[in-house]
Amino acid sequence: SMETANAATLKYFNGDDLATRVWVNKYALKDSDGNLYEATPDDMHWRIANEIARIEAKYKNPLSAQEIFDLIKDFKYIIPQGSPMTGIGNNFQIASLSNCFVIGNGTDSDSYGSIMKVDEEQVQLMKRRGGVGHDLSHIRPKGSAVKNSALTSTGLVPFMERYSNSTREVAQDGRRGALMLSVSINHPDAEDFINAKLEQGKITGANISVRIDDEFMNAVKNNTEYTQKYPIHSETPRFSKTVEAKNIWNKIVHNAWKSAEPGILFWDTIIKESVPDCYADLGFETVSTNPCGEIPLCPYDSCRLLAINLYSYVENPFTKKAKFNFDLFKQHVAYAQRMMDDIIDLEVEKIDTILRKIESDPESDEIKGTEYHLWLKIRKKTLQGRRTGVGITAEGDMLAALGLRYGSKEAVDFSVEVHKTLALEAYRSSVKLAMERGAFEVYDSKKEAENPFILRLKNEDPELYKLMQQHGRRNIALLTIAPTGSTSLMSQTTSGIEPVFLPVYKRRRKVNPNDKDVRVDFVDEVGDSWEEYIVFHHHFKTWMAANGFDTDKNYSQEEINGLIEKSPYYKATSNDVDWLSKVEMQGAIQKWVDHSISVTINIPNDATEELVNELYLKAWEVGCKGVTVYRDGSRSGVLVASEDKK
Ligand code: UDP
Repeated sequence: SMETANAATLKYFNGDDLATRVWVNKYALKDSDGNLYEATPDDMHWRIANEIARIEAKYKNPLSAQEIFDLIKDFKYIIPQGSPMTGIGNNFQIASLSNCFVIGNGTDSDSYGSIMKVDEEQVQLMKRRGGVGHDLSHIRPKGSAVKNSALTSTGLVPFMERYSNSTREVAQDGRRGALMLSVSINHPDAEDFINAKLEQGKITGANISVRIDDEFMNAVKNNTEYTQKYPIHSETPRFSKTVEAKNIWNKIVHNAWKSAEPGILFWDTIIKESVPDCYADLGFETVSTNPCGEIPLCPYDSCRLLAINLYSYVENPFTKKAKFNFDLFKQHVAYAQRMMDDIIDLEVEKIDTILRKIESDPESDEIKGTEYHLWLKIRKKTLQGRRTGVGITAEGDMLAALGLRYGSKEAVDFSVEVHKTLALEAYRSSVKLAMERGAFEVYDSKKEAENPFILRLKNEDPELYKLMQQHGRRNIALLTIAPTGSTSLMSQTTSGIEPVFLPVYKRRRKVNPNDKDVRVDFVDEVGDSWEEYIVFHHHFKTWMAANGFDTDKNYSQEEINGLIEKSPYYKATSNDVDWLSKVEMQGAIQKWVDHSISVTINIPNDATEELVNELYLKAWEVGCKGVTVYRDGSRSGVLVASEDKK
């Protein structure tokens, strides 16, 4: 039952009630009546290990279920994220194993029919727990002519509302779907798009991002005009409009300062660096991203995510003898890549289950309908590219455990070394997989020969490149850095490449005010009572223990401040790292990540718009693929995937 699971899980997580709640509510196996079938994450990890081992057994040199279990148990080394964690081996619901999808039909499809079709596809994917993104640049701008009784079109904004509402309608077992809507800055309605969420309560079911090209950025820098077109970037546009680039830029900056959106996608960098875009003629042209931005995708492609817990490779953490075990890390990166490839096979099985279900329902008029064709298209792309999203979490804790201050030059240099190693070993593993299992269907070394990311790998390891030319690679693109929102709660580490949020903070727990054992510290606007308690960041406690401080003592605020000052987390939290150096770090790490990086630049409440402007320009200059800022207190509980932390 729920109670037994909670007690056992609470013990498993050493009393961490947030980790317990997240696991029980989101990931423990349960049927549609809410009956639980797993008491602790060990049960879940066996479920996953057995399924991956079943796939391994079909190939050469298989890993055993025990070996896989040892890699994933306790969220210590390798962590399949959200969708694979819930979906693998789960026969109670037919959920997809993909965390990320992009849909839509490219440039010339702005009929009502195709707009509604995207709406239905979005819902069908969210129903299976996928995060979805699509791009709106193909929709004709406001006021342009249409050949029907409406005579002119309404432009982008009403469609943003439609898609946002659809997201809000789909419940996903305690959470709701997540959506990304993007548009090119070249679209004549881009400014309306940018302003669409300013009004309170509007378009709350979507994250929004603008695709910004280098021509626009240069126009901003030189304060010159920029021409928007429809169709975008057309030589012979049906509609065009000349604007002051700086005006629109200032609006983007202002809105991001005010309410953390729109996010920015540096589109030319994304396309130029993208390996899959070398296969654009075969349908791999990137058009949008998943909801949090870390996976740019072509229509009807999907991606599954996994995070490697970097903290666990630090031996003797928080001591003078602390050392990162590169040998173990390299070995595990290879296993992670391999497990991700296995999970693609599991995903194809899931898709086939969905297709058979639709086919076997004689009443279904969807047999030839949208859902059926949607999954056929996704199945095809999945096998053509076999895309994976191997990422990391706990970068911040790793640096602290090694005595490196987040944001310092030494820390950035070390991080780059780690991510370079990760990239090389993941690609090496994917080449080895190609030797054992075959390359991804459309692999062609000539097509990718000039890609900057591939050239970087070649330069670093010419032998690996030669081997890849000879045998191909199993996966079209491999790497990412996701937010790891719930993942990091369960691994009890910092998330993604973020610094620690706060080493010590207050958390609230809802309580029954009539219960005599509770203390009511706070009553909210709807009258609910809350108890407040102090929480130590898990590895802040590890640092305390390693340095002889009593972790059970009741410390005063002053004593806590003194402890923080002595720790490697001092001046290294998301609120006090140097923001420009954080952007530089993101740019430097991006060189070794073939997809993108989801990261938020946290700035204080009194930060100026000028600072946001400076950070965004810097992000473009240092080669970031995207950037998001969050000004402290600028909005509450809106960030879809990080709700547990806010
Ligand atoms: N995602 C989603 N809904 C959610 C959380 C995540 O669709 O509520 C998808 C989305 O594509 C996001 C990706 O999963 O970009 C990764 O999010 P995160 O790293 O936070 O995943 P988690 O750690 O929660 O598994």
